[in-house]
Amino acid sequence: MIKVDKSLCLGCMSCSNVCPSQNITRSESSEKRIIHWKRCKEECDLCVEFCPARALTLVPFDENVPEPDVSFDLVACRICGSRYATEPMLRRIEFVLPLNLQKDSTNLEWIRICPNCRRDIEAENVTKQIVMERGKKSR
Ligand code: SF4
Ligand code: SF4
Repeated sequence: MIKVDKSLCLGCMSCSNVCPSQNITRSESSEKRIIHWKRCKEECDLCVEFCPARALTLVPFDENVPEPDVSFDLVACRICGSRYATEPMLRRIEFVLPLNLQKDSTNLEWIRICPNCRRDIEAENVTKQIVMERGKKSR
């Protein structure tokens, strides 16, 4: 079965996404994400392998060990306010990504912006670029 080091877990849900037996469940409200590990009798090891934080270990099955869960507050997008990721996930990205890639060409800290707002900003930038280039050609 799986042992979880809650202090290392980022709340990224990779383990839940790869588990072939739905042993790792997650529930999400508009503000919170909860991940729950069932007492797993299989030993496929996929969740351990895919955990980016090395928070999971395979240990012998013990029905007396309580099933762990971890709860995270979700972080609000700096533009629209919708909650989209856990703070440990964002800190991890900030830690591994070189500083020069953490802001876009307009100095926007894109890690702290939700995927929907990032898409909108990117689409707006591309549109502006196309309009500018057409303007240059027509001169
Ligand atoms: S060991 Fe395999 S079956 Fe068990 S929780 Fe992890 S991914 Fe799921
Ligand atoms: S993959 Fe690791 S860090 Fe991500 S939710 Fe699972 S245990 Fe936590």
